Formats: sequence, C-alpha cells, structure tokens
Amino acid sequence: MKIDILTLFPEMIDEALSYSIPDRAQKAGAVEITAHGLRQWGVDKHGNVDDSPYGGGPGMILRVDVAHTALEAVDPGHKAWRVMMSPDGDTFNQETAKNFSQKDNLVILCGRYEGFDARIEQYVDQKVSVGPYVVSGGELPAMIVTDAVVRLLPGVLGNEESLKSETHEDGATDFPQFTRPDEYDGRTVPDVMKSGHHAEILKWRESQKRPTSQ
Ligand code: SAH
Repeated sequence: MKIDILTLFPEMIDEALSYSIPDRAQKAGAVEITAHGLRQWGVDKHGNVDDSPYGGGPGMILRVDVAHTALEAVDPGHKAWRVMMSPDGDTFNQETAKNFSQKDNLVILCGRYEGFDARIEQYVDQKVSVGPYVVSGGELPAMIVTDAVVRLLPGVLGNEESLKSETHEDGATDFPQFTRPDEYDGRTVPDVMKSGHHAEILKWRESQKRPTSQ
C-alpha cells in the first residue's frame, strides 16, 4: 500500500512515523509512506500557499490551486482515495481504518491556519475528522489515520491474533492483560490466569470484554 500525505510540515510526519510499528511496516515493505511539502507547489515569485479570506476575517486560507496541483502531482488522474483532514468530516473509527487499509493508495491532505478554500472539496473523495474538536493542523489527525491503517496491513503486527481481540474489533473492548509481578500494591493477578487451563482462560477473557460505543 502507498500513503501520500500532503502537508506544510512534512518533517513532522517523517519523524512521528519513524518509530515502532509504522517504522517496521515501512521497512518490511508493507507500506510506503511519503510526506510531501505543499510549498513545492506554491505560486507567484514567493511560492505562496495561502492568502487572506475574501469577505474579510481572521487568519489565512490555503489556496485551492496549490492544493489541486499537489493532489494531481502525487495522484495523476485521481486513482487514489483522496482524504482531506477536516473537523467537519466523517468521524474516523475502526471501520474507516479497515476500509482505508483495503485501498492501494491513500492520499491525505492536511490543512493549517483557517483551512482550505472550500473549492478543494470537489477534488477529494472524503473529509475525515478525528473527533469533535479543532486542532491546529491536519498533521496529527493524518498520523492517527495512517497509524491505525498501517497496523491492519497483513504481516505488520508480529502476531495476527492480537488484531482479532483488539478494542473496537467486533464492537468490544480488549480483555484485561497482566504480567509480572503477581502481586502489586495489594492487587493480585486473577487465579484463572495462572491456572494453565486454556479453556478456562479463554472463557474468563471473553467474560471480561465490554461493548464499545461504535
Ligand atoms: N477554521 C477551521 C479549522 C481549521 S484548523 C474550522 O473551523 O473548521 C486547521 C486544519 O487542521 C484543518 O484544515 C484540518 O486539516 C485540521 N484539523 C483540525 N481539527 C481537526 C479534526 N478534528 N480532525 C481532522 N482534521 C482537523
């Protein structure tokens, strides 16, 4: 799979996705993640990417021509699934992550400042929000989406079994897990976990799962 992220701050993405599972996934060839700096498609002699809003108001708006040129440069002919990070988009959840993990190519557009010129919407397939709040830019939301998608790709997690029991899988929480020490601050690990009875352990784990909201 290929994930292209369009951003004013590509270094943020490169840094954050160079650890642990996203890093392993890239090194194993399961995914190719590229952060592209939007400024390379800037216009005028100053390489502008933004301008003040028509009709007045605070802040700067990202230009539609810059964003559209960038989208066409990384995804000529619009073959990829193009996602724009936006607080008024569809709320991202595990179903969306699964759906995105089936795509060959995902393009993620990150806003900054007051967001994009509204005309950008006709060049993307979906607006996605990471929750009902506003953050300063699309980079952190894009990294959440990317990380959630990458861990679902075949061969990325060392143990595929761990995916099946994860929280939000089949609308349930993961089961509680324990490791050493056996006793800590007066609390002990449930006896069944140390019983060695595989069937009993499975039963107990199943009984501990709780429904999640989605
Ligand atoms: N003025 C805009 C907010 C701009 S925030 C508004 O009120 O809707 C700047 C950028 O951060 C947005 O363009 C978007 O890409 C990103 N962003 C902010 N909050 C987000 C959220 N909850 N989910 C996804 N992206 C978000």
